[in-house]
Amino acid sequence: MPNNPVVIVTGASRGLGAATARWLAKIGAAVTLISRSGAALKRVAQEVRHLGGTALVFKADVSDPDACQKAIARTLERFDRLDALVNNAGIVEPIVPLSLTDPERWQYNIGVNLLGPFYLTRAALSELRKQSGRIINVSSGAATTVIENASAYCAAKAALNHFTRVAAAEESGLTVLTMRPGVVDTQMQEIIRRDGSSFMPDEQFAFYQGLKDRGELEPPEVPARSIAWLALYAPHELSGDFLNYDDPQIARPALDLFGEKLE
Ligand code: NAP
Repeated sequence: MPNNPVVIVTGASRGLGAATARWLAKIGAAVTLISRSGAALKRVAQEVRHLGGTALVFKADVSDPDACQKAIARTLERFDRLDALVNNAGIVEPIVPLSLTDPERWQYNIGVNLLGPFYLTRAALSELRKQSGRIINVSSGAATTVIENASAYCAAKAALNHFTRVAAAEESGLTVLTMRPGVVDTQMQEIIRRDGSSFMPDEQFAFYQGLKDRGELEPPEVPARSIAWLALYAPHELSGDFLNYDDPQIARPALDLFGEKLE
């Protein structure tokens, strides 16, 4: 890994993506920050600079293939290389029974969670090949566990995992993997508690609400440290795998590299 690696992080305006960008800044990385919210990205960019990194803000919706292409082009224009792509942007909604789901909202979920990673991967491949680079796709337990009334999210994350396996096989010079970040205290969990109260089975809703009430949600910095480490150092033999954020083979070296605290 070069001294100042260049990493693209999508969904960098808050939550896991912003925390990943901050860890990367701590080791002097240059980070392209992508999301739909320019003002929030600018705030994260300031934090990145404060921590010792370099930031490029790129406001984009990852469900737009042209915007994804431009994000890669702008990154290369600015930093002249690309070492890793972190496909983290995601939405959980619509949380609604599939019989009541608006097809456009379902399709948009697939656009963000699955097509976005595909568009960015495709656009980034030729540059990543030059660096034997890495693609880290942030997936979810929903890829393998049934979450009732979240059919689009579950389907998108399951497809993202399998897309990752195929990409890893085709691009044998790269390291491409998916990671499950646990249940994390971010806006996504707020949406699950808000919308899940109407539509989720009682037991499922109680699970998410209970984690919040007992203070058992994972702070975003913890799984984000694993994501940041994977973007820099994921071993090639893990390519294609679906990993847990707290797998000791990731979490331990991540802690050694970045330390306990961000500041
Ligand atoms: P979050 O706080 O809601 O953050 C989601 C991020 O994605 C935001 O930066 C958001 O920014 C961005 N985003 C959403 N739609 C986008 C779009 N169309 N184009 C570009 N950016 C977009 O949620 P989070 O928990 O950090 O989620 C990060 C990842 O972790 C997601 O892939 C999620 O599926 C996964 N995950 C989370 C949990 C959890 O418990 N929180 C569990 C498993 C997996 P803008 O709104 O500014 O666009």
